[in-house]
Formats: sequence, structure tokens, C-alpha cells
Amino acid sequence: MSVRIAFDNSYARLPEQFHTRINPAPVRAPALVKLNAALAVELGVAADSDEDAARAFSGNAVPDGAEPLAQVYAGHQFGGFSPQLGDGRANLLGETLEGGRRRDIQLKGSGPTPYSRMGDGRAWLGPVLREYAVSEAMHALGVPTTRALAAVATGETVRREAGALPGAVLTRVAASHIRVGTFEYFAARRDAESLRILFAHAAARHCPGAETPEEMLEAVAARQAELVATWMSIGFIHGVMNTDNTAISGETIDYGPCAFMDAYHPDRVFSSIDTGGRYAYASQPGALVWNLARFAESLLPLAADPAAAARRLSSIVADVPEAMRAHWRRLFGRKIGIAEATEEDAALAAGLLERMAAGRADFTRTFRGLADGSARAEFDDPSAFDGWAEGWRARIASESDPQELMRRSNPALIPRNHQIERMIRAAAAGDMAPLDRLVDALAAPFEESAPSADLALAPKPDEIVARTFCGT
Ligand code: AMP
Ligand code: MG
Repeated sequence: MSVRIAFDNSYARLPEQFHTRINPAPVRAPALVKLNAALAVELGVAADSDEDAARAFSGNAVPDGAEPLAQVYAGHQFGGFSPQLGDGRANLLGETLEGGRRRDIQLKGSGPTPYSRMGDGRAWLGPVLREYAVSEAMHALGVPTTRALAAVATGETVRREAGALPGAVLTRVAASHIRVGTFEYFAARRDAESLRILFAHAAARHCPGAETPEEMLEAVAARQAELVATWMSIGFIHGVMNTDNTAISGETIDYGPCAFMDAYHPDRVFSSIDTGGRYAYASQPGALVWNLARFAESLLPLAADPAAAARRLSSIVADVPEAMRAHWRRLFGRKIGIAEATEEDAALAAGLLERMAAGRADFTRTFRGLADGSARAEFDDPSAFDGWAEGWRARIASESDPQELMRRSNPALIPRNHQIERMIRAAAAGDMAPLDRLVDALAAPFEESAPSADLALAPKPDEIVARTFCGT
């Protein structure tokens, strides 16, 4: 009786300075909260029973072929450099090639490691279920992201500011967990040999054919530019865009204090620790450029001619804002029903956003409501919408099927903060029905279905959740 996974652990084969071999710390009473059955099938993960899954995905029974380890990395956090971070509460069981590509299977909340510093290495059920629901919603929305394979309750409590809370472990699946901060770790130590090994490993996994720092930076910058523009197009605020949370793969990673906006405002911040608004909604493109500049710096020691490479790397970073603007134009053009948006069309979309901010219009409902005429009701003063809509209607009259394009480009359902919090409260009290319902509904975000109509509503004033917490 067990869980079987076909492992092929390329990261574990890297030299010892890349990681610390350590088993997950067993928990008292593992109980399966949720298993992503479709993803398990895709990854060839075979569990004989829920109990077996709970034991494997809590860390109590390490599957055959796993080579558990904690990865080391560094990172700029809110602008300040930490030369050593690393997996303080995560454990990489290994990688599988099932499903046609290499993917990490990692436990999060799996006990202390040499990188835990003051932390307990654990997680509580709230952030585990938040990450489960939001990362799976992002996947259904078509956004590159890490996935959630399982959530297991530990039967232990963890101490946080709010008191004693139920513990849990999340099983996360990722193209890899290599971050900008992984490169920064070796660059800061002036360990050029390890940097070369990391480069070859990351290139093989994420940038096949890349041989120079420029080629890798270009590939990573291109996919991160598209990723962040995509976040903007769905009103997503990551919340902690530190360099250790910027993945080389281009996947969204680390769903800590992230949130989807309800009422639109460019300065919106949710994270309780982002007091300066560094990672506010509209600051995300700038934060990405900053992070890519740190990535460029950490690649520099690999260049044959550092002075020439510095110029070329800088120019790649300098081109990122324009790449993001082009994605923005395309994505927001489609959101307002224009298949191939021009600069003028982008200005039209920006004009709508300006009125939405002034009129406190719900981001998701306003865009979704463009197709069926319900958008104007989202504004404090609907006439502000009417003033914009006149020019817009004239513009889309020449598009072939703008309604259909808008329905495909504007989700009806996003994981709204107040619904996530409600789901977490229920789960912490032992009621998993809201979790199942939310995750099921979010699997088809572009469909309107009567049974989940309430999940598409904006929060009432007394339901608004304005703050999110890392929950570490
Ligand atoms: P994050 O903000 O989740 O990206 O984490 C930043 C760093 O803090 C990483 O090195 C984490 O491993 C570490 N960390 C976060 N929470 C804990 C915890 N409960 N115990 C130990 N380390 C933690
Ligand atoms: Mg992190």
C-alpha cells in the first residue's frame, strides 16, 4: 500500500552546494483534505488509498525514488538583499517526466530545514487552501502557474499571531523551483563554477539552446513580461514580487498574500507587509523590470566579455517595458472586443480603466459585463460609462464577433478574496464543502452557471476583505 511516482531527480544530482538532503518531518495525524485527481493522473501519481495519499503528501511516507531535499537560494526582498534564504518550510521530493515534461513535486509546510531561520517550517490550513484554490484558478484562466496536487491536514496546530491554528501541508507541482534568487545566491558568493552548473541546468530545463547569458535573459524576460501583463489583464496582484519569488520557468509562484481586485484601482495593495505599496497592482511591471535587472547582474560573471555583455544585458532589460506594453495592448484590446488592438485602441481601454477607478467599478464584472450590457451598472455613476461607451461601440462595430471575443477574454469567475476567506473559515471548522464548491466552479471561469452565480458577485460593503497575510 503506497503512492507510486516515476521519479527522475535532476536537481538532486547537482553538487551538494545546491541543496541540503533532508526528509520531511512527519506529522501527527495526516488526513487528506483535497487531492487533485486530474493532475495526479496527468503526473502518473498512483495512490492505493486516501490514507496512502495523506501519508505521502504530508511527508510521513516518502515514496520510493524520491530524493527529498531543501533548495538553497538568495533573494532581494522588498529591495533588500538576503544572501541566504532557501526552502525554510518546503521539501522537494523529486521530479517526474510523466505528462510530457519535467515537473517538480514539492511539499510546502513540511517541517524545519537548515534554512528555516526563526520559522517553524510549517504552514497552517488557511494559506495552504488559498494557494490550492488560487493556483488552480490561475491554471484554468490560462495563466502559467505552479499547480496544487494535494492538501493534507497534519492533525497538529501551528502558532501564528492569530493563535493556535490547524496545520497543513500543500503539495506543489512546478516546472521547476529555480528562481532569480537561485542565481543571485551563487553570484553573491562569487562562485562562478556553481553559477555555470546552474546555468546549464536551468537552460536545459527552461531555455533549450541558450548558451549565453543574453540568450537566457532574453528568454526569461520574454515569458515574465507576458506573465505580468497577463496578471494585469485579470486584476491579479501577486503581493510579494521578490526576486526569490520570480521563477525562471515563467510560472506564477508563491501565492502568499496575493489577491484579485474587486473594485478597480491602480494603487490597490492587499498584503499586510507591503506597507510602502512596492508591489501595488500598477507597480508590478516596474517590479518585474527591477527583478530582471537583478537577474542580469547575477548572469554577468558568466560572460566572456563582461563590459560588452553588460551593455547587451542592460538593453534587454530596457526593452522589457515595451514588450509588456505590447502584451497589455493585445490583452486589453481583446477584453474590449478588439482582436488586434492598435495604440489608439489601447488608449480606449485605458480610458475605461480611468473611469472604472473613479467610479469604483468592479474589475472582473465590468469587463465581463461589456458583452451583455451590464457593465454600466458597476459604476457609481453609470453615465461615466455611457460617455466612454459611445466611442467604443463605434469602434467595435467593424470587428467580426466582438461579443464572443469578450466572453472568451473576460472571466466571469475569479477567486474573490471574500469567498476564499469564507472557504478557509469553513475548512478550519471542519466543513470542506465550500472548498470543493469553489475549486470546482473556478475550473471553468469563462462559463456562467446558475449554481455558482453567487461566486461571481462582488463583495457587499461588509464582506470586503482589504488585507491579506503571508501566513508564514
Ligand atoms: P516567502 O515569503 O514565502 O517567499 O518566504 C520567504 C522565505 O522565508 C523563504 O526562505 C521561506 O522558506 C521562509 N519561510 C517562510 N515561512 C516559513 C516558516 N513558517 N518556517 C520557516 N521558514 C519560512
Ligand atoms: Mg518564496
